[in-house]
Amino acid sequence: MADMDEDVKSSFASLGLQEWLITQCKSVGINRPSAIQHNCIPPILKGQDCIGCAKTGSGKTAAFALPIIQKLSEDPYGIYCLVITPTRELAFQIADQFRVLGKPLGLKDCVIVGGFDMVKQGLELSRKPHVVISTPGRLADHLKSSNTFSLSKIKFLVLDEADRLLEGNFGPDLDVIFDAVPSKRQTLLFSATITDTMKELKKMSMSKPFFWHSKAPVATVEQLDQRYVLVPAQVKDAYLIHMLKTFQEEEENKSIMIFTSTCKYCHTLSIMLRELGFPCASLHSMVKQRIRLASLAMFKSNQVKILVATDVASRGLDIPTVQLVINHNVPTSPKDYIHRVGRTARAGRGGMAITMVTQFDVKLVYAVEQRINTKLTEYSIEESEVLPILNEVALAKSQAEMKLEELDFGERKAINKRKQLIMEGKDPEEELAKEKKEKKRKRRKGPSTSGEASTSKER
Ligand code: AMP
Repeated sequence: MADMDEDVKSSFASLGLQEWLITQCKSVGINRPSAIQHNCIPPILKGQDCIGCAKTGSGKTAAFALPIIQKLSEDPYGIYCLVITPTRELAFQIADQFRVLGKPLGLKDCVIVGGFDMVKQGLELSRKPHVVISTPGRLADHLKSSNTFSLSKIKFLVLDEADRLLEGNFGPDLDVIFDAVPSKRQTLLFSATITDTMKELKKMSMSKPFFWHSKAPVATVEQLDQRYVLVPAQVKDAYLIHMLKTFQEEEENKSIMIFTSTCKYCHTLSIMLRELGFPCASLHSMVKQRIRLASLAMFKSNQVKILVATDVASRGLDIPTVQLVINHNVPTSPKDYIHRVGRTARAGRGGMAITMVTQFDVKLVYAVEQRINTKLTEYSIEESEVLPILNEVALAKSQAEMKLEELDFGERKAINKRKQLIMEGKDPEEELAKEKKEKKRKRRKGPSTSGEASTSKER
């Protein structure tokens, strides 16, 4: 399965990796380089900046982690490398790969993300770990509030899911971080989706970056069976339950991810599924970080077979067992579609993605098909098969909505938002008024179907 992306016939030795590191790769089942590794490892080892784009699940993390670990072994000190990534879960996942691959070296890593104790994190940073993996906001907070650590000697700056970082509203936090790192360093940018922002970046920063992107014309992997199912908007959830029943009858242990558009819907759906006898975990940015990690761990370890998530889980998460992705809504950005369906059919395995399409979503589906250069095929469901469960599902949904109200979900969201603004040093009243005004302006302009990505930090 070296051929995770395109046909590659090289060996890690021919790319310049040392024997001890190759042995370590083998011990975790990485035997031959994938395309992105074949192409990006040699220039990184040579000291070049690098921009790498390849389908999700093609071994991007090891493509930058391996040369960094080898270079670190030649001159080990901390803090040697900083990796920035848009979501907390991805930060933990990247740290895992550094820890496993860098084990013979005794590599010390440190994950700096929101939702955990800042004092403890400050202490960890002051102990000079070799590699720091962080989301932008929390690292910027540390840089602004503490002088017990320094990033001024780092050799490598990695931006993982670089397009998301550069397009989202991470700008001010990234500015703080860029000011703290030395200008003489190697910069590595990786992403599964290439965008104009990345092309811009290639022009304006970095010294003569080596640029590589997968030549595959289709943005999603061949092993992925991509379907759509037409559903009437009012009874969408009954169709979802029908699908879950069908798939679990076919294969009891099928591992399924369901993507939803908002935190609130994600939470309601997970309560509703439990009411209907489908144990599941949920992952979105409105729950505490510990619960987020616990949900992910339960799903990864197969304790629950269903994970309901927002786009906070759409990027980069590597859960090899996922066999089916259900898009409960058609993502407004085709790029989000690519990332969501990339959670299945990973590393050469098969998988299926089904997107639920209502009468209002046709334009969005065309935009997705155009972007992925593939037509989705129909997964058809007979209306008569869904009719018997309509009432049961409607009842479970209204019960779930009632439970959500008891949880004060809306109120908690508002409090969290205010807290976030205060942490950013902004006046919540002023910012919320601005936001309200902007929303009004957008409403006046009418709905957008341009397929632009949401710019919220975490969904
Ligand atoms: P990533 O694209 O970094 O999320 O990696 C996807 C998965 O592929 C991870 O579980 C890696 O451990 C695994 N992997 C990375 N490189 C290789 C390789 N050359 N051969 C086999 N598996 C790999």
